[in-house]
Amino acid sequence: MIASDLPTAIERLRQLIENASVIIPFTGAGISTECGIPDFRSPGGIWTKNKLIPFDTFVTSQEMRDEAWRQRFAMEQNFAKAKPGRGHRALASLYRAGKSPALITQNIDNLHQASGIAASDVVELHGNTTYALCLDCAKRYELSWVKEKFDTLGEHAPDCGCGGHIKTATVSFGQQMPLEAMQRAEELTRNCDLFLAVGSSLVVWPAAGFPLMAKRSGVALVIINREPTDFDEIADLVVRSDIGDALSPFIAN
Ligand code: NAD
Ligand code: ZN
Repeated sequence: MIASDLPTAIERLRQLIENASVIIPFTGAGISTECGIPDFRSPGGIWTKNKLIPFDTFVTSQEMRDEAWRQRFAMEQNFAKAKPGRGHRALASLYRAGKSPALITQNIDNLHQASGIAASDVVELHGNTTYALCLDCAKRYELSWVKEKFDTLGEHAPDCGCGGHIKTATVSFGQQMPLEAMQRAEELTRNCDLFLAVGSSLVVWPAAGFPLMAKRSGVALVIINREPTDFDEIADLVVRSDIGDALSPFIAN
């Protein structure tokens, strides 16, 4: 059901939240656009500027690793400056109120953790871009270290001491999904009674399968997004508006 106007939608959402005992938010890039991090698909989004580097290309080509890191450092201003937005703060309020035990996100920006949700309660389906890992030995590297090496090497991506390639701790296209996060997300999705899909175009699989899984498990589904999604028809409530506007009434001080 698409709410006819924003106040009606917010009222309906308030009722659903009040009646729910376990709420699982599921977030996408749309929740972070007001924080200065562009999403993928909106005009001016990341895909309109950057070439997509699939995982196998990253692994096999030094040139593509250099390009991947160039792109990442070009975004550093956005990521480093970003603070949690109204959507993040509202979801953190539900968490603090004990309504929401954990959150599933497709985002890689660390903003849910920054909003006060314990890192162990943020299930990251696509990893995290605020640090890096060796693909072979899993040693952690900070971005400042990678940047220094990158500059010293004349804009070349450095490798780990073990010889493995260093990549942001994100899941690229063609890279295996993190098994533990996927399993935990599935468990949370099946065992909640309200699932809030916020700011996702719901076209990236397998992540987009979670709202569907929720619905099939008898969970009430709410979609908050300014554009239509393929799952609007099956949702119990569609709030088609700006996320900050829709969620700011739920920020507790
Ligand atoms: P997406 O770019 O496919 O979709 C974002 C959706 O949010 C769009 O439908 C857009 O209309 C909507 N939106 C944007 N700003 C909004 C606002 N203020 N209010 C309401 N709606 C708004 O994003 P996705 O579904 O998350 O998939 C893209 C993938 O890219 C993700 O898997 C994620 O890993 C990655 N990504 C992450 C970030 C981040 O961490 N912030 C940013 C870009 C991409
Ligand atoms: Zn290593």
